[in-house]
Amino acid sequence: MAEKRDYYEVLGVAKNATADEIKKAYRKLAIKYHPDKNPGDKEAEEKFKEAAEAYDVLSNEQKRQKYDRFGFQGVGGASGGGAGFSDLNDIFSHFGDIFGDMGFGGFGGGFGGGGRRQAVRKGANLRVKVKLTLEEIVNGCDKTIKIKKKVTCSSCNGSGAASPNDVTNCTACNGSGVTYRVVNSMFGRMQQQMECPTCNGEGKTITKKCSACSGEGVITAEDTVTIHIPAGVGEGMQLTVQGKGNAPRRGGVNGDLLVLIEEEKQSDFERDGNDLIYDLNISFPDAVLGTTVEIPAVGGKLRIKIEEGTQPGKILRLSGKGIPDVNGYGRGDLLVHVNVFVPKNVSKDERKVLEKLQSSETFQPKSQNGFFDRMKNFF
Ligand SMILES: [Zn+2]
Ligand SMILES: [Zn+2]
Repeated sequence: MAEKRDYYEVLGVAKNATADEIKKAYRKLAIKYHPDKNPGDKEAEEKFKEAAEAYDVLSNEQKRQKYDRFGFQGVGGASGGGAGFSDLNDIFSHFGDIFGDMGFGGFGGGFGGGGRRQAVRKGANLRVKVKLTLEEIVNGCDKTIKIKKKVTCSSCNGSGAASPNDVTNCTACNGSGVTYRVVNSMFGRMQQQMECPTCNGEGKTITKKCSACSGEGVITAEDTVTIHIPAGVGEGMQLTVQGKGNAPRRGGVNGDLLVLIEEEKQSDFERDGNDLIYDLNISFPDAVLGTTVEIPAVGGKLRIKIEEGTQPGKILRLSGKGIPDVNGYGRGDLLVHVNVFVPKNVSKDERKVLEKLQSSETFQPKSQNGFFDRMKNFF
């Protein structure tokens, strides 16, 4: 084995680095050399292991102190073994939490079938729907919801056994969790590794089950989760809250909580992407003479001016009064779609006034009411 590199050097941090800096540095390396990203790359795998070993020591205050004073000898000898990880899955089970929010899709399947032992198990994802008001969508919000999910059984700490003495190594696989079978392939007879069917790859057999969870290692319980909803989400979007899903059976990492966004139906506005559309009815005299009107808007009412001679179908664009973009690219507009209300019944007096207007030259339709002018108004 090659000469071991200094742990600080491995992570590329200073001797006085904070715990947070160490964690960040490790995450960076772990992402870079992650086996999912570098399939079959031995060098990357070694770097991945090297970083995990360095992180294992430097992230633990006691180990770090010993290492600072005594070097490799302080943390398991200079022989090269030390705190090292021989198996990638040891790293995943050891640092499950750090991988949990890294964005690699689950570890349930193991890695590439390359003959690894027991991949870290991941609990099932949990799906919930969250209904949001327009106000909540515009401003973003924290939603606290109650969910029923599988949590680790506290009686057995998730082992599923009545007591620690009630677990033995699986006899079918000698505790390795894998068995082998010989298959005929186009390359000849090959030995293929498979999950031990007796223990489902767990490597352990429970002789006496925990009564609280019937040996499952998990129980169903109610949990309260607060979900941060960013501003600008929309119907059908899905947010992932890492690690807030179901706990896995007998050890591993939690599944994720998948949050499906629903918009509460509301009458005032129609949503078009990040824009809001509001239908405004004004009276015929108001269209002719102009006025100011109050319209509902996000976060309160708005007063807008209706110009003299406003044509039906006109769209007023109130810049920036829409919904913030979920990715932070500005904000949509509020489009006020102006309709002119035409009464169906009028009084005698009103009829007289209108009849006067009917014959007036001013009220004869002109080309400005034409289709192309309306289009111009639209844009
Ligand atoms: Zn239990
Ligand atoms: Zn077994």
